[in-house]
Amino acid sequence: MFKKILIANRGEIACRVMATARRLGVKTVAVYSDADAHAKHVQCADEAVHIGPAAVAQSYLLGDKIIEAALKTGAQAIHPGYGFLSENPDFVEAVEAAGLVFVGPPASAIKAMGLKDAAKDLMVKAGVPVVPGYHGGEQDADFLAAQADEIGYPVLIKARAGGGGKGMRLVEDPGDFKAALEGAQREGQASFGDPSCLIEKYILQPRHIEIQVFGDGHGNAIHLFERDCSLQRRHQKVIEEAPAPDMPDTVRAAMGKAAVEAAKAISYSGAGTVEFIVDGSGALREDGFWFMEMNTRLQVEHPVTEAITGLDLVELQLRVAAGEPLPVRQEDLSINGWSFEARVYAEDVPKGFLPATGTLDHLRFPEGSEFSEGAVRIDSGVRQGDTISPWYDPMIAKVIVHGPTRKAALNMLTSALENCQVAGSVTNLEFLTALSRHDGFGKGEVDTGLIGRDLDALVATASPSANVLALAALGALNLVAPVSGNDPFERLSGWRQWDDATQFVSLTYADTRIDAQVTQHGKGQFSVTYDGETVRLGVTALDGTAVRVELADRVATADLLIEPARVSVFADGRSYSFDLIDPLAGADAEQEGGDTIVAPMPGLVQAVLTQVGADVAKGDALLVLEAMKMEHTLTAPRDGVVAEISVAAGDQVTDGSLLLALEPADD
Ligand code: ADP
Ligand code: ADP
Ligand code: MG
Repeated sequence: MFKKILIANRGEIACRVMATARRLGVKTVAVYSDADAHAKHVQCADEAVHIGPAAVAQSYLLGDKIIEAALKTGAQAIHPGYGFLSENPDFVEAVEAAGLVFVGPPASAIKAMGLKDAAKDLMVKAGVPVVPGYHGGEQDADFLAAQADEIGYPVLIKARAGGGGKGMRLVEDPGDFKAALEGAQREGQASFGDPSCLIEKYILQPRHIEIQVFGDGHGNAIHLFERDCSLQRRHQKVIEEAPAPDMPDTVRAAMGKAAVEAAKAISYSGAGTVEFIVDGSGALREDGFWFMEMNTRLQVEHPVTEAITGLDLVELQLRVAAGEPLPVRQEDLSINGWSFEARVYAEDVPKGFLPATGTLDHLRFPEGSEFSEGAVRIDSGVRQGDTISPWYDPMIAKVIVHGPTRKAALNMLTSALENCQVAGSVTNLEFLTALSRHDGFGKGEVDTGLIGRDLDALVATASPSANVLALAALGALNLVAPVSGNDPFERLSGWRQWDDATQFVSLTYADTRIDAQVTQHGKGQFSVTYDGETVRLGVTALDGTAVRVELADRVATADLLIEPARVSVFADGRSYSFDLIDPLAGADAEQEGGDTIVAPMPGLVQAVLTQVGADVAKGDALLVLEAMKMEHTLTAPRDGVVAEISVAAGDQVTDGSLLLALEPADD
C-alpha cells in the first residue's frame, strides 16, 4: 500500500478519500486554490499545497501543477476524485510519465469511454445493447436532422463529450431540432471543448439503472450490483438508491454480466460505472436495458453501494492501484438491506433551482458519523462558517441512510433530511424531504420523469406556521432569555406582576413582509399577533441555539439562530430564515423598471448574442449565462436599443452585477 497520496480534488469527495486513506495509515496531501485556503479538505489532509487562484482552469484543472505538488511532497499516487481531472487521459499519462500512480483506470480505458459516440461503437462490438440512434462522425445540421427523422421523435441530442447532465437537449418537435442542436453544440464546446453531438432515441418512461464495476488489472472484473438513479431533475441525479426497486434476479444478473463485459472489453481496472437506460414502463426485462455511457471513475453516489455491500470503494481503488488483486470475488458478494443518498445543494428551489451562495452560519447534520458504516452517514466538504462560493459545485452534503428494508431506509431518509439545519444559504432540503415523502417514490414507482411531472407539488413551500413566526418575532426582538434556574419567581410568571409591554417587529420571509406585534406578559411569556391571529407561548433559551417552547397544549424544542440582519428558526423538520427590516430605513430602493439586465446569480457569461446599438424586441435572447450545471438565457425586458454591454463571453460575474443596459425608454 502507498505511504502517501495526493488528492487532486476538493469538497466532500476529497474529504471522503482522505478518511479512507487515514484509516489505512496512508498520509494525505491536499491541493487548494485561493478560495479554498481554509477549506475543510485542507484541514483534513496531513499537508496541503497551494496551486493557484479560485478559477478551476487556473487551479484544480492544472495537471502539471498538481503533479509538481505530488513530486514535491513525496506522494506516490494521485487520487482524482470525480469531476475535474478524473476522466482526462492526458492527465493520466502525465501522472505516469512522472513516475506516479494514477488511482483509476489506464488512460486507454478512459479514452475508449471518454466520448459517448466511440464508447457506443465499442459496446456494439462487445455485444452490449446500446440506445438506438446516430453516433457517427458526420456533424452537418441537415444530415443530423435527417437522422433524427429516421430515428423517430422524440430524440435526445447529446454532446459526445458531455457529462453531469450538460450538453443535452430533448427534442419533441422536428421544428425545434436545429435550435436544440445549436444549444447542445454550444454547451459541448463551452464546457468540454468539443461541439460534436450524437442523436439518441428518447426512451419513454425510462429508469436510470447503473452497475458499479471493478477491475484489477490482473484479469479480474466484478460488479457490485446496481444503483437506481431515476430521480433526476434535468438529467441530473437528485436521490439515488441501491438496490433498484423491483429488480428481478435475472435482470440483475443480465445487467451485471453486460457491465462486466463492457469493463473487460477495455481491460478495465479500478472503479467504474456502466450506466444503462432501462424501459420502466412495466416490469424490468432482460431485453429492456441499453448502454448509455461508462463513467471511468468513482461516482458521486458510490456510498449507497458501500452501504449494501459493506465494502469501502475507495479502499478497493487504492488496493487495486497499489497492484493488489481484488480482495473479493463475485460469488462472495451479496446485498444487505437498502440504501438511499440525497444530494443537498445550496440552491434556490422556488427560483428554478438557481445555484446559491452564502456563508453557512449554522450547519447541523443529524446524528451519524462521517464515512463510517451505520444508519446515517453524512459526506460533506463544508463546516459551519464555511462559504459556498460561486466558483465550485454548490453541494453542501450527501445524506446517506442504510436500513434493513426499502421502507425503513426511506423513513430514515426523511427523518435525516428533517434533521439537517442550514442557515446562511437557501437549500434544496425541503424539496428533498418532499421527494422522500412522494407516494409513487415510496412505492418504488420511479422513472426519470417523476420529478418533472410532480414538480409543482414538490417545490411548493409551506408558509411558516404561526408558532414559527412567533419564534422568529421573539428572536428578532431579542426577547428570548435563558432561565437561570435559581430564581424561584422566574418559573411562576403569573405570580409576579409584570407590566405587559408591547413591541412591533417587521420581517420578511421569502419576499413576504410580516409585521407582528409582540406582548410580553412575564419573564419568557409572550403573545404574538400577526395577520389577526394571536399565539400565546412561553419560550426559554437552552444550550446553544436550542429553545424550549411551551404552547397551550404541548411543549416542544426548536432552534433559534439570531444574527444582526436575520433570524433563523429550525422547527418541524425545516429551516426557516427571516430577514429583519429596519423600520427606520425607507422603502426598498425602487427596482429599475427594465432598462438593465443584471446577473440573477453568480456565473459564467457563455455568449453575448447582441451588440451595442442593436434594436431589440421584448423577449429577444441577449446573453447566455452558465451557472453551475445550467445555461440560462437572459432576454430583453422590453423593446429598445442596446446602450451598453458590460461583459464579454468568458467573464465570470457575481450575483447582481450589471451585464447589459438598454437606452433609457423615451417617455
Ligand atoms: P455522477 O455521474 O457521479 O453521478 P453527476 O452526473 O452529478 O455525477 O456529475 C458527473 C460529473 O460531472 C461529476 O464528476 C461531477 O463532479 C461533474 N460535474 C458536475 N457538475 C459540474 C460542473 N458544473 N463543473 C464541473 N464538473 C461538474
Ligand atoms: P451524462 O454524461 O450527462 O451523465 P448520460 O448519457 O448519462 O449523460 O445521460 C444523463 C441522463 O439523461 C440519464 O440518466 C437519463 O435520465 C437521461 N437520458 C440519457 N439518454 C437517454 C435516452 N436515450 N432516453 C431517455 N433518457 C435519457
Ligand atoms: Mg451519465
